[in-house]
Amino acid sequence: MPATIVLGTQWGDEGKGKAVDYLADRMDFVVRYQGGNNAGHTIIAEGRELKLNLVPSGILLPHITNVIADGVVVDPRVLLRELDELGASGLDVSGLRLSLNAHLIMPYHLELEKVTQRYLGKNALGTTKRGIGPAYADRAARVGIRVQDLYDEKILREKLDVVLWEKNRVLTKVYNQLPVQAEQIVEDYLGYAERLRSHVADTGRLLHDALNAGKNVMLEGAQGVMLDLDHGTYPFVTSSTPVAGYALASAGFGPQHVERVIGITKAYVTRVGSGPFPTEALDADGDRMGDRGHEFGTTTGRKRRCGWFDANVLRYAARLNGLTELILTKLDVLSGFETLKICVGYRAGGDTYDDVPPNQTLFHEAEPVWEEVPGWGDELGDVRSFEDLPKEAQAYVRFLEELGGVRISVVGVGPAREQSLPL
Ligand code: GDP
Repeated sequence: MPATIVLGTQWGDEGKGKAVDYLADRMDFVVRYQGGNNAGHTIIAEGRELKLNLVPSGILLPHITNVIADGVVVDPRVLLRELDELGASGLDVSGLRLSLNAHLIMPYHLELEKVTQRYLGKNALGTTKRGIGPAYADRAARVGIRVQDLYDEKILREKLDVVLWEKNRVLTKVYNQLPVQAEQIVEDYLGYAERLRSHVADTGRLLHDALNAGKNVMLEGAQGVMLDLDHGTYPFVTSSTPVAGYALASAGFGPQHVERVIGITKAYVTRVGSGPFPTEALDADGDRMGDRGHEFGTTTGRKRRCGWFDANVLRYAARLNGLTELILTKLDVLSGFETLKICVGYRAGGDTYDDVPPNQTLFHEAEPVWEEVPGWGDELGDVRSFEDLPKEAQAYVRFLEELGGVRISVVGVGPAREQSLPL
């Protein structure tokens, strides 16, 4: 039975947490498939605001089994802290399942990221410094430590010996730092392992059996398509793969189960950190979007760059992921603009493009082709049906749908669960 993939179609922060929470009612499983504790979801429901960094957004609903799949990198200290906090707020977190194959973020990943980013100076990527990039790098280099390694002390020590031989030389001789101590890591991580024992599972098998038993599984992406390691604005990208195809690789089942691929799209665009952003509004309009949309990172507090809606990015996301529908978020933020700009195409290198140009140089110099449409004055937070939106807001939504070639199924007019209008 069906799997649904939900992912961000821009540079992340599209409001995926709320969208996943909205859809989760009909789900039995919610699965995080990539990233680490750099993602930050905010969910407001039943009068509570929850910030999630690692735990899937289905955690609010007691009937859901939440899964952290193979392709996520996990800092066990952070996961335990998040579980403790959620538990203290009255949620039952005992059902969370963590894949045996997930890679662990280790103390030397944090140390190394801190020092390497510092030495890069102005070329630093502006990462969150949570050890996520270095953990993914070790995974690819096959020197990573996985969740399952924590349950075999001999193996854990052997693997640490191998990896620390190199890491400590780099830390001490290249970066002039103190070495990390294997003994301390073993002691700490065996402690985390004990506390996580009841959560650890063969999640691939669990999801396979669930799908065959007719259960509904939602695969939840972090970040967004434009931050994808391959398809994003490399090197200003995340170190994992948010696109829909990877959801299956990480969860460990085949594409025949997938029924819906839902793209979460903000009614304007934001991005954090460096890199091309053709529709960026470096003026009062951008500031207004940032202020009204509270565009500061959930996890980092960093101010996000803001700009007008970019149909090229949407078409690119539709193409890469095979989107079957869209959830449009934060339409309410655009109230009060006299007119709204929408990028309907790019000009770059003497050509025109209807999605993202094939190389970075062209993308850097891409000039938006604008259309300007009428705005609306009314605040939208209290509107409860699409038909009750101002006609200019309805027309804006229909125009984005037409530009992207993908149906919009829900429009968000505020952060709360009830501020979601089905179409
Ligand atoms: P995510 O990582 O994609 O889940 O995005 P974030 O949680 O970082 O950012 C989304 C923010 O927008 C959160 O604070 C949400 O509560 C909020 N949000 C989500 N949907 C809407 C909406 O339709 N309108 C408004 N005003 N805020 C929204």
